[in-house]
Amino acid sequence: MSITIFQNASIVDGASAVPREGVNVLVEDGHIREVSDAPLRAKDARVVDLAGKVLMPGLIDCHVHVIASEANLGRNALLPDSLVAAHASVIMRGMLMRGFTTVRDVGGADFGLQQAVEEGLFEGPRLVICGKALSQTGGHCDFRGRYDVRDRHAFDRKLGSLGRICDGLSEVRLAAREEIKAGAQFIKIMANGGVASPTDPIAFMGFSREEVTAIVEEAQNAQTYVAAHLYTDEAIRRGVECGVHSVEHANLVTAETAKLMAEKGAFACPTLVTYEALKSEGANYGLPESSVAKIDDVRLAGLRSLEILHSAGVTMVYGSDLLGAMHRHQSEEFVIRGRVLPAMDVIRSATLDAARLCGMDGKIGCIAPGAYADLIVVDGNPLDDLALLTGQGRSMPAIMKEGRFVKNTLDA
Ligand SMILES: [Zn+2]
Repeated sequence: MSITIFQNASIVDGASAVPREGVNVLVEDGHIREVSDAPLRAKDARVVDLAGKVLMPGLIDCHVHVIASEANLGRNALLPDSLVAAHASVIMRGMLMRGFTTVRDVGGADFGLQQAVEEGLFEGPRLVICGKALSQTGGHCDFRGRYDVRDRHAFDRKLGSLGRICDGLSEVRLAAREEIKAGAQFIKIMANGGVASPTDPIAFMGFSREEVTAIVEEAQNAQTYVAAHLYTDEAIRRGVECGVHSVEHANLVTAETAKLMAEKGAFACPTLVTYEALKSEGANYGLPESSVAKIDDVRLAGLRSLEILHSAGVTMVYGSDLLGAMHRHQSEEFVIRGRVLPAMDVIRSATLDAARLCGMDGKIGCIAPGAYADLIVVDGNPLDDLALLTGQGRSMPAIMKEGRFVKNTLDA
């Protein structure tokens, strides 16, 4: 079995505001076996000297849609599954090469894609999946438009569809159970209007209180939680009161509701980069006009929401939520957040805190014995300059996933 020893590393993981210097890390069988200030030795080990470089846990993005190869999500849902899977493999490879070794897919990716990565059929981040996001008729996963009367279940089984439509208590329960049976590790619901969908203004509430509560119960029965697409303060408050654990976006949150989130231990997953990308490039990449008109309803409140969540003590995780050709902006969320938040907190959102939300505390997002050897080497200290994490991995000479280098230019 191959053994790698990283020596003289400065570790940055989001746990402290300064790097931990002079650390040695032993990797064996895909896992981190030892982390020590003292020199480590092992027979036949490959030794990599990291003097002057930073070693970080592989990054975690908690809000992606790997099946979104087009910004027009209605059209994406119509693509053949085979084409969607092929596009997803390219999108996922791109994520891995930006240093993201785990991503939480919040709508669309299925067990097959997760399995394909695990079997090594293509290079990509580890996937944490929810299957299809649940949406009500006319909600954020209903892309049929005003005059489109196709059956609401027409997209349930399409790989290119972010979600599926269900209405009423028995249907939402069945949908949640089907997703869990199919391998969902959490349940995603669309509980508020959205940008990319045609008939739901941002202020619309998605699902009734009873439906949200029922889905939360189904998730809890399966030992997991509900993540909800939420923008307005009213919708966030209602969702959290109903037991939603992961608040996606949260752009229009108020201090009072943020306080409730903190009390309840709910996480927030802001995704500011997607609104910047949609604003500048969305129309060019096929975002429908009805959606372009809605971007600023949420975009303009973005940075303020970070400050509100931060001062209320809400745990924030890293999210990007990009679509189609805009996926290349995935790492820019680091820089956007760094404008108002301490760099250490921004990093922790993509490491230690993200791992907790993925239910993989101690396995990912940290450099500790027993964790997967998901590691990135950075030329410079991201605590001083978060932009080192951007640029398609240009400042990352090495990226390791489960003990194997997927990129290594250190020797070159
Ligand atoms: Zn999303």
